[in-house]
Amino acid sequence: MCLLYRLCACNESTAVFVLESMGVLGMIDYGFVVVHVPHASLEIPEQYLASILLSPAQLWREKRRMTDAFCDELYDAPEFPTRVIAKYSRFVCDVERFRDDKLEPRAKFGQGLMYTRTTFARRLRYRDDSLRNMILRQVYDPHHEKLTAAVENSLDRYGHCLIIDGHSFPTLTPVKPLGIFSRPDFDIGTDSYHTPDGLRDTLCNKAQELGYSVKVNTPFSGAITPMKFYQKDKRVYSIMIETNRRLYMNSKDITKSAGFNKTRETCFDLMRCAADWVMATR
Ligand SMILES: [Zn+2]
Repeated sequence: MCLLYRLCACNESTAVFVLESMGVLGMIDYGFVVVHVPHASLEIPEQYLASILLSPAQLWREKRRMTDAFCDELYDAPEFPTRVIAKYSRFVCDVERFRDDKLEPRAKFGQGLMYTRTTFARRLRYRDDSLRNMILRQVYDPHHEKLTAAVENSLDRYGHCLIIDGHSFPTLTPVKPLGIFSRPDFDIGTDSYHTPDGLRDTLCNKAQELGYSVKVNTPFSGAITPMKFYQKDKRVYSIMIETNRRLYMNSKDITKSAGFNKTRETCFDLMRCAADWVMATR
């Protein structure tokens, strides 16, 4: 929601509170937060498209399933201006994966940083070391250099950093009567080293308070940390927020739904809640 619109609807003291909570008056400084959005882009430039073996229709279906569409907007709260957003589709390069395939659990399914298989194990492209090296050089490494620099900058200025890893996940139709595949509204992803239990619990409580169902590391787990700090530096906090796409988009044609603005405000609330927890415990 636009700031001016919000201010028109409230009295002066509320306006000050809104401005404070948005960091506009400089009373709350959320500069230690780095927002990371790896999977929102649908863009596949020509030079990377050539290696993909799927038909345009197959690729569209796969992109529809795998793209966290609109997450670049869903998590763009104005208080958190430091954002590292992947420029290209995960079918060019999945920047959320480990650089080394030996460390990456999804690599054995053909879904390391350069996908060779689709979700359902269809051949997506052939293994090609020179292509992989090009992707590392042109996409993966520059993205991680940017993320690492943003974290370093937060550590230098504030002595700590919170990475908020922003994703979404597809809704699966519940299978009755077992109810398997019933997915929550939000999934909070954690890392055993970089996500304190208190941060995880506070965020889960906040989501429930706002009326949403929430699970931890379900359906997806983890939260990104640059390798320079990974499991080495406790000053770097990391947490993943995953939003169920049924809350904000029509997955069939990749368009925003009527729930988009409300869900975006909820994501902003969750982000502020995480940042406030870190501030309060430092
Ligand atoms: Zn994602």
